[in-house]
Amino acid sequence: MKISVVIPFFNEEKQIPITVDALVPVLTSLGCDFEAVLVDDGSSDGTWAALRAACTADARLRAIRFSRNFGKEAALCAALDAADGDAVVVMDGDLQHPPAVIPEMVRLWRDEGYEVVEGVKSSRGRESLGSRLNAALFYSLFKRLSGYDLENASDFKLLDRRVVEEWRRLGERDTFFRGLSAWLGFRRAKVPFEVADRKAGKSKWSPFKLIRLSITAITSFSAMPLQIVSVLGGLLLVGSLALGIQTLVKWAQGSAASGFTTVILLLLLIGGCIMLSLGLIGIYLARIFDQVKGRPRYVVAEDTRRRGR
Ligand code: UDP
Ligand code: MG
Repeated sequence: MKISVVIPFFNEEKQIPITVDALVPVLTSLGCDFEAVLVDDGSSDGTWAALRAACTADARLRAIRFSRNFGKEAALCAALDAADGDAVVVMDGDLQHPPAVIPEMVRLWRDEGYEVVEGVKSSRGRESLGSRLNAALFYSLFKRLSGYDLENASDFKLLDRRVVEEWRRLGERDTFFRGLSAWLGFRRAKVPFEVADRKAGKSKWSPFKLIRLSITAITSFSAMPLQIVSVLGGLLLVGSLALGIQTLVKWAQGSAASGFTTVILLLLLIGGCIMLSLGLIGIYLARIFDQVKGRPRYVVAEDTRRRGR
């Protein structure tokens, strides 16, 4: 039996020794074979040197370096492609996902036969009001559109070998790990955990990256925003019919609506609706374009397991 742990790192040079030192004793205590696949997501600091040093010191660790920053989702894809354990644990590199929970995850998988063990946030840790509100808004929208309730879900999960094989068959270029692992199904168990505070560095998610992930998530799971365009068109049609009849009646009575105000207001309203609809369609079109190009999800520059590097 072999357990793989996969971790993405982006500009975490200070955090790496701390994480490795916390993780390895926990994995050793499991009393079975293990490996850790550590992915450097195109960092610009000393992350790769730190990962290489850790791998040199311990042969059970393996590091992969991307040719540039491809994002956490791509790093997870690379790590899941590389991991060959009977179960794979996915976690963050900043110890906000406490390694102490791993033995319980492994027990649920090994003794009770669960194929997916999900870490569920029992508290969200220290987080700003803004990011709390954003998360609440995103998850309620996601639930309404896709039917999956991901509130308090996290990327801290154990996946059985079979689940990882199915994951590898997924064809989309832009993945949303949290949603897709729910979509895959299988026998699932939940383990609550407290989100710990970050020890070194700060969050690597820029607002731009978060917005992009939210758009990927929603457009991967729902075509509802496209129906909104039709609804908007229907509403406009009904409105313009009523307004048209009223205008004609007034004209027949000799008191036609006067001035440009009416025209300008109507133009602005219709223009806004058209731009909004085009934008919505454009988002889906861009995703289809990305998918059709068929580029790989990530490019590996170095791998400590590959010879001659
Ligand atoms: N991460 C990554 N690529 C990115 C952004 C983040 O590999 O482009 C990694 C990061 O190094 C960390 C994990 O993803 O190990 C979670 O990121 P972070 O702690 O910054 O996110 P938060 O906890 O704020 O959601
Ligand atoms: Mg974090």
